[in-house]
Amino acid sequence: MKKLLIFATIFLLAITQIQAAEHWLEGYKKVLVIGAHPDDPETMCGGTILKLKAMGVEVVSVYLTSGEAGIRGKSHEESRTIRQAEARRACEVMGVRPIFMTQIDGNAEVNKARYTEMLALIKAEKPDMVITHWPIDSHRDHRVCAVLVYDAWRQSGYSFDLYYGEVMTGLQTQNFTPTLWVDITDYHNKKVEAYKCHQSQGMNEVQEYHDTMERMRGMESQTHHAEAFIKQNWGK
Ligand SMILES: [Zn+2]
Repeated sequence: MKKLLIFATIFLLAITQIQAAEHWLEGYKKVLVIGAHPDDPETMCGGTILKLKAMGVEVVSVYLTSGEAGIRGKSHEESRTIRQAEARRACEVMGVRPIFMTQIDGNAEVNKARYTEMLALIKAEKPDMVITHWPIDSHRDHRVCAVLVYDAWRQSGYSFDLYYGEVMTGLQTQNFTPTLWVDITDYHNKKVEAYKCHQSQGMNEVQEYHDTMERMRGMESQTHHAEAFIKQNWGK
């Protein structure tokens, strides 16, 4: 009996800790997830998107480029058509609205006009939370995306909370030591269904990678599958 009580206490403490760990997700009304390419929002935080949707939060999936350089043997125009269609299907699975920005895959730019464009989009959408790429990443477009969103956060007068997520950590995201976790165990299968809409991208290899990442983050937060984030500190 005593052993049972100890076990029950430990179990309750663990549950409380996990629930407490997700309080940071509560209270938001509208979230933009801004990824560099079709499939980035889904793989980075598809489980969190689904969880936010289940909490009644409006979520918009923003694609900085349309993956124009992402299909071998296809022109930019052909790839854009295919990959936007794949992203629309993924968004349907997640129940979110897609927005396609006008940058070009492999050639994403940072300049005054692009800063203005990102700020204008965020001002028009009025999110209270934005999730984007962690800025240290082997992919140039991911780095550009993070820089543009970070600048918009500053220029908007810190009008939203900014969070960074990870994609293919080690291979793409680098030096990422998360401080926040979301238990996505119940949403794992739906997340996989969403990102597998990107059929042109060889998603089986991606699944193996992301499953491992989710398990690693799950171990850190005492659950099975988790996604992890870092919040940008407020500061002028
Ligand atoms: Zn990408």
